[in-house]
Amino acid sequence: MQEGSGGTLIERVDVAPGYRLEDYAEYNYLAPQVADLEAAAREAVPRLAGRKIWIVSSTRQGGGVAEGMPRVVSLMRQLGLPVEWVVIHSPDPAFFPLTKRLHNQLHGMGRLGLGRGDRELYDAVSDRLADALANEIGSRDILIVHDPQPLGTGARIKKKRGIPAIWRCHIGVDGTTPASEEAWQFLAADASAYDRSVFTLADYVPPFLSAAATIMTPGIDPLTHKNRELSVHKTSGVLVDAALAATVHPTLAPPFAAQALRLQADGGFRPAVFPEDLGLLFRPIVTQVSRWDRLKGFGPLLDAFVLLKERRQARTRDSRHQLCIDHARLVFAGPDPSGVQDDPEAVETLADLCRRWSGLPAGLQHEIAILKLPMTSVKENALMVNALQRCSTIVVQNSLREGFGLTVAEAMWKALPVMGGAAAGIRAQVADGITGRLVDDPANPKAVADTLDAMFVDHKEREVWGRNARDRVSRAFLIFEEVRRWLQLLATLAR
Ligand code: UDP
Repeated sequence: MQEGSGGTLIERVDVAPGYRLEDYAEYNYLAPQVADLEAAAREAVPRLAGRKIWIVSSTRQGGGVAEGMPRVVSLMRQLGLPVEWVVIHSPDPAFFPLTKRLHNQLHGMGRLGLGRGDRELYDAVSDRLADALANEIGSRDILIVHDPQPLGTGARIKKKRGIPAIWRCHIGVDGTTPASEEAWQFLAADASAYDRSVFTLADYVPPFLSAAATIMTPGIDPLTHKNRELSVHKTSGVLVDAALAATVHPTLAPPFAAQALRLQADGGFRPAVFPEDLGLLFRPIVTQVSRWDRLKGFGPLLDAFVLLKERRQARTRDSRHQLCIDHARLVFAGPDPSGVQDDPEAVETLADLCRRWSGLPAGLQHEIAILKLPMTSVKENALMVNALQRCSTIVVQNSLREGFGLTVAEAMWKALPVMGGAAAGIRAQVADGITGRLVDDPANPKAVADTLDAMFVDHKEREVWGRNARDRVSRAFLIFEEVRRWLQLLATLAR
């Protein structure tokens, strides 16, 4: 792969084979979906003979796109397709801030004013990256490009090599805003160069792409470290190894190489057992796991939790409900920003949240934990997320905008009650009052506090939502269905 002045421009990502299809099929509840996928592969794979599939994205870790990729790649390979996954690195430090801006605008947010300088930057970087990658790609290969960062790169490769190409866009807003319209204008020429585009929801497709758009939701892998079953002992072992819980007992495994870090009163971060154990195994816990992105609604969730605690005097309901809220703790967990290359706003968003936390009285600081989860080991990071979700009474995803929201499917799969901001991607997963609860206005702390409060009232209801949620994910949002749809689409394109 080509070296640029800033280092490697195109990085080939190694993907461990992980679980085999036979391993999944051993679980009775997964066997039918594996069989459907294998049947689809028998149809599609021969039609793709002699073609390599190139997947291009912008980060190997952090966020939903990177999350699913290794499993999609591994399953496609097992089914007989040669697949390469590469990530782009920008030779210009201004490129990812620009694409983050486009990301926000496609979600309908952010300021207007994309200008000539932005155009020149986007085109120059896309030209360079396309030059670095195009010659690696065979004349019969197929290109799948994810999101706006490598969109221009893929469009140029498509033109140079004349190969079939698909753009997979994970972002979107239901309806348009001036911000989203400006971003679509900026990207229109490149997006139109592809044979097909793939969107998560029909509502996200801009009119100029609608004639050649496919709708596909992502899926989660039920056996990865993020989603596999964890016994109570395993969960507590992970918490202790990650410094998320203290113990006087011996554990089976040594401490993780890099432990979870928690914001401290002095503004620094220390292992999360400081200044004292969080109570994850004993207290009612409300958790949000996300990248540090403003659109995830951290600020209003923090304010809502404070409101919930402060309303104490006014509450007249039964004492168990009151105790639940008195003892509850809120946990924000996200990746250490240094581990996510294409998200330049993460440092600032986390710093903002930390500042808000520092302004709280000491008693409330005690009840709200801001955690940085290291990304040095993907496995350990995934186990931390898994254990944190499993310790939760309620999992929240208070997103103002959300393309899909894998964290929602991950929690639903664990049969946990989810409270989601009513962003389109979350609405597609959570049916209000059936598989969890939705807040119409996640930017409004009072609305969020009211919904959390109501969710604390009845543990039987939470149990029903959680069970229904698992059933829903099992039917619609497992990775087998996603890969099956990809095979069909690729085969259509090859024809
Ligand atoms: N995630 C993670 N470690 C973290 C925080 C988040 O592995 O410290 C994962 C999370 O479990 C989920 C993904 O990052 O799989 C986030 O995907 P989602 O679709 O929810 O949002 P996106 O980041 O794509 O906007």
